[in-house]
Amino acid sequence: MGKAEQAPARLEGLAARLLPWFETHARALPWRADREPYHVWLSEIMLQQTRVEAVRGYYARFLAALPDIPALAAAEEGQLHKLWEGLGYYSRVRNLHRAAVEIMERHGGVFPSDYAAIRALPGVGDYTAGAVASICFEQPTPAVDGNVLRVMSRLTGDRRCVDEAATRRAWRETLAALYPPGRCGDFTQALMELGATVCLPNGAPDCADCPLAGGCASAGGGWRELPVRAKKRARRRETLTVFLLRCGERWALRRRPERGLLAGLWEWPNVPGALNAQAALDQAAAWGTAPCALERERQMEHIFTHVEWEMRGMYIRCRETPDSFTWVTGEELERDCALPTAFRKFWDAETGEGG
Ligand code: SF4
Repeated sequence: MGKAEQAPARLEGLAARLLPWFETHARALPWRADREPYHVWLSEIMLQQTRVEAVRGYYARFLAALPDIPALAAAEEGQLHKLWEGLGYYSRVRNLHRAAVEIMERHGGVFPSDYAAIRALPGVGDYTAGAVASICFEQPTPAVDGNVLRVMSRLTGDRRCVDEAATRRAWRETLAALYPPGRCGDFTQALMELGATVCLPNGAPDCADCPLAGGCASAGGGWRELPVRAKKRARRRETLTVFLLRCGERWALRRRPERGLLAGLWEWPNVPGALNAQAALDQAAAWGTAPCALERERQMEHIFTHVEWEMRGMYIRCRETPDSFTWVTGEELERDCALPTAFRKFWDAETGEGG
């Protein structure tokens, strides 16, 4: 099939079929309690690449600490990173902050209601702008993400590659024409909900309980081949030696560079490659820490979107605390320092939290 318009019968009455189902099946999620733009925006940003269950706690903590846009705009980077610690994709929280500052400066502290103005905020793409404009401001602006593309591809038997921008754009246009006046926010959420809870990405979709099964091109099993995806690039593998340098009750941390992966976050000092015990002690000595003992080694792995880290952790006792590192107690680390999950694993293993 070419364009979705060539299968109008399958899309006819889409909102009328979907909305009654949504009314009875919508999950009660904290960010659905109201349609306050700050809440919806924050939740949509948190939910990018992240599971609903993982987001719940973060969402509650973030709002408790920063209840509104002025509070977010005034927040310090360290606090923001700490509130985001473990969620990953930290550029999201930096963009949230930049957007909040922009809302204060350019929009008088009021979240803009116009799609183009929302789309122009830092970190806001077509999907997020569509979600906020439809859910909070009742505009017919589809929020087309992986869930929605999967449902649409399967429903209509559409074999265009969903990783291409042209496919997403075409679906945005097709869906915009199907938005029911006065129910725009519900329609956006109903499409998302069906993709998240019924027309599932991994394993079999629950066609028996799907409100669209009657008119679906894939209910008979065609879903196995849809949506059509681009071939994934293999992840790059990198090896690192990570140093947990301890002097008395203090541990050495340093900041990552302001650009690139995990920009600006804290990390254990590390070097590329897998050093053996002696080479690791030599490196610690070269940093001026006067190492006295390698206490243990631990292997850890961490998978990012495009790269995998294979890490050899070296726990080393030292006698000196050179200024090139920041030396913190465990309590200070927990309270003040956002340590990304890749590095956090070594700490959790040491303190028993990682099992
Ligand atoms: S019938 Fe099955 S394949 Fe079709 S939209 Fe519903 S869950 Fe997805």
